[in-house]
Amino acid sequence: MARYTEAVCRICRRENSKLFLKGDRCYASKCAFERRPHPPGLHGGRRGKSSEYGLQLREKQKVKRGYGLLEKQFRSLFQTAERQKGVTGANLLILLERRLDNIVYRLGFASSRSQARQYVCHGHFMVNGHKVDIPSYLVKSGDTISVKEKSRKIVNILQSLETVARRGTPGWLELDKSAFQGRIKELPAREDLGLQISEQLIVELYSK
Ligand code: SF4
Repeated sequence: MARYTEAVCRICRRENSKLFLKGDRCYASKCAFERRPHPPGLHGGRRGKSSEYGLQLREKQKVKRGYGLLEKQFRSLFQTAERQKGVTGANLLILLERRLDNIVYRLGFASSRSQARQYVCHGHFMVNGHKVDIPSYLVKSGDTISVKEKSRKIVNILQSLETVARRGTPGWLELDKSAFQGRIKELPAREDLGLQISEQLIVELYSK
């Protein structure tokens, strides 16, 4: 499976945004973005004025990297969003949130999306009682996501659940910590996501 091999904190610094890619460290004073909030590299000390294209590209990169997708996966999801009824940008963000790896992260079973993806690939999660090991699986309203019985002793999952309150669980999800399961109460609307993203810039970029 293709994946990023770049040091992830460089991604936050490049995108000028905290993307929470490293779990607990992101909430500590060690966060590289907090300590060095400028782009990485020899000439990273300043951010020049961006062109319209530059702004659109950076917004797309920020979202794509935040959710840990590669270009082909991201564009494919965008095309799905385009085919759906409604506003393409909002559709895209909702599709990203519906991915199983994101849900596992949002519910607090993993401290980052990359860790969540690994857990899903290793078959630690079930959707409606059936094992699903596809991180891009799209959940639906009413679905139940649970940790497999045998996986409930994994230390990292237990530790993540202990710290979930720090992040909070979105209102459209319901977590039952003691049962190691969560439920999709309803699919979110754009305003429920509370994300600081200008998705219209991404739509403009891909519409060129
Ligand atoms: Fe980004 Fe987390 Fe690294 Fe901070 S610690 S720069 S939020 S990945």
